[in-house]
Amino acid sequence: MLLLRDEQKVQECPKGIPLERRNHSLIVAQKFSSKNIYLTDQPFIMAKYIFVTGGVTSSLGKGIIAASLAKLLQSRGFRVTIQKFDPYINVDPGTLNPYEHGECYVTEDGAETDLDLGHYERFLNTYTSQANNVTTGRIYQTVINKERAGDFLGKTVQVVPHITDEIKRRMLLLGKSGNYDIVISELGGTVGDIESLPFIEAVRQLQWELPEDDVVVVHLTLIPYLRAAKELKTKPTQHSVKMLSETGVHPDIIVCRTEEPLNNDIKRKIALFCNVKQEAVIEAMDASTIYEVPLLMLREKLDVICMKKLGINVFPEPDLEKWKVFLDKLKYPKSKVTIGLIGKYIELQDAYKSILESFIHAGAMNEVKVQVVNVHSEFITKENVEEKLEGLDGLLVAPGFGNRGIEGKIIAVQYAREKKLPFFGICLGMQMAVIEFGRNVLGLKDAHSTEMDPNTPDPVINMMEEQKKIKMMGGTMRLGAYPCEIKEGTLAHKIYHETHITERHRHRFEFNNDYLEQFESKGMIASGKNNETGLVEIMELPDHPFFIGVQYHPELKSSVERPAPVFVSFIGAAKIYNEKKHVYKTSALQDALI
Ligand code: GLN
Repeated sequence: MLLLRDEQKVQECPKGIPLERRNHSLIVAQKFSSKNIYLTDQPFIMAKYIFVTGGVTSSLGKGIIAASLAKLLQSRGFRVTIQKFDPYINVDPGTLNPYEHGECYVTEDGAETDLDLGHYERFLNTYTSQANNVTTGRIYQTVINKERAGDFLGKTVQVVPHITDEIKRRMLLLGKSGNYDIVISELGGTVGDIESLPFIEAVRQLQWELPEDDVVVVHLTLIPYLRAAKELKTKPTQHSVKMLSETGVHPDIIVCRTEEPLNNDIKRKIALFCNVKQEAVIEAMDASTIYEVPLLMLREKLDVICMKKLGINVFPEPDLEKWKVFLDKLKYPKSKVTIGLIGKYIELQDAYKSILESFIHAGAMNEVKVQVVNVHSEFITKENVEEKLEGLDGLLVAPGFGNRGIEGKIIAVQYAREKKLPFFGICLGMQMAVIEFGRNVLGLKDAHSTEMDPNTPDPVINMMEEQKKIKMMGGTMRLGAYPCEIKEGTLAHKIYHETHITERHRHRFEFNNDYLEQFESKGMIASGKNNETGLVEIMELPDHPFFIGVQYHPELKSSVERPAPVFVSFIGAAKIYNEKKHVYKTSALQDALI
């Protein structure tokens, strides 16, 4: 679907596409084929903008609401993208400790971004980029660089207009690309935070500068349920909307997170006090899975109300067939597997967000429920490993940085290798598998990564050459998508069914190719490599039912409609392991796994 405007002449439209003129600014071209319809080689199409703000408290799930709304609009044929504006001063979250901010999500183009971008990609099944995540730090960096270059011609540089101008430029950037009909901008933080003010001010200005039917503001709030009084309370929402209105931004739609259904009286009250239509008060009940939220929002007509406000009055029915099939498989699994997630940030689930979501996608594909048991690597010892990992059907050793918990990870890998338990190592997890094999099979008893032991006599994992001269921390790792060539006949090949893949990266260290011959001669092979640099991307043990370590992060490309193949196969292997736990033959199992 393309949104066409007055300034684009109707006759430029390809023949056979009926146009319906709806109002002064908008014409909707119905798409009758699956192909995109372009008016000219470089279509001049302006997008419409939806801003999602949050009130009352943080962690209400703005990202999920934004992603669900985007999914619904996409399912009706619109080209949608979502961007996130974060009010903190870090230029990007790449330098943030996962305990502070959860996982750092990496895009194809190598941007280190907020984990909400992961939700956007998993819901929409489209890629985001650096442009989809903007922080206060990045805004100021741009403005200050311009000031140093003398671009402001002697003017005093101020928050309004210079910072807000830069925010607005970024808010409109993707919309001007011609690639999108609708751009959803999620504003991080909560209304009332000092740091959010310039972003809210930018939205206020855009509400005036853009045509009225080009902008919608959705405000997400909480309606607490007081158990003692058995009552839902609207006062925090009233205050939050009042605070937002004081900044000059009036929400068009209020989405209310609630544990209990909102009756009509409550909706009427919110509408009255918050100055919105009753139909624009949307109930967002707690859901059993985030993947149910688009359907809940569809029932509440969130997308329809948005489209009406945007002047889009004709639209196709949503096509959510694939989504529903996935949801059915997710909700009604046929069996269960238990996976141990070995990491050092396990107290904070957001630190491994994409991995946990990939398990959900892969579980649905295999029609099993994936129960993830978090095992803190710091507390695994040779003495307790058996007890700590008992009952698992598979082991995933997580990515990470630094020394803490390293020995526990190595002990866990050894257990999985020797007990023929399905093993999957990601990035640092793959490096640990290499160190374990080096120490316990090759007999290099002090083998290590130079990240943890710069003086190790056997640096089986070494810093990448180009990383050695880098001194700055932010944005300097090997980041983003790189190709990997897969050897035919290997487990990796069975997983991907192809010999050429691209996956995303975030690391400074690599397998030391000086040791490759030794490893391969003893049974750990490099089944995936980057041909240009020779960098090992995948290590595996052919003599094991399922043992694979990958230097890249497959969890970053897993979506509902395109689950990451290596996760799907790993869960498949865990399922078979679970079924065959007692009658277990390595060689027979190898073929049955994939
Ligand atoms: N610390 C390791 C490296 O930099 C692994 C990084 C990761 O797991 N993302 O290579």
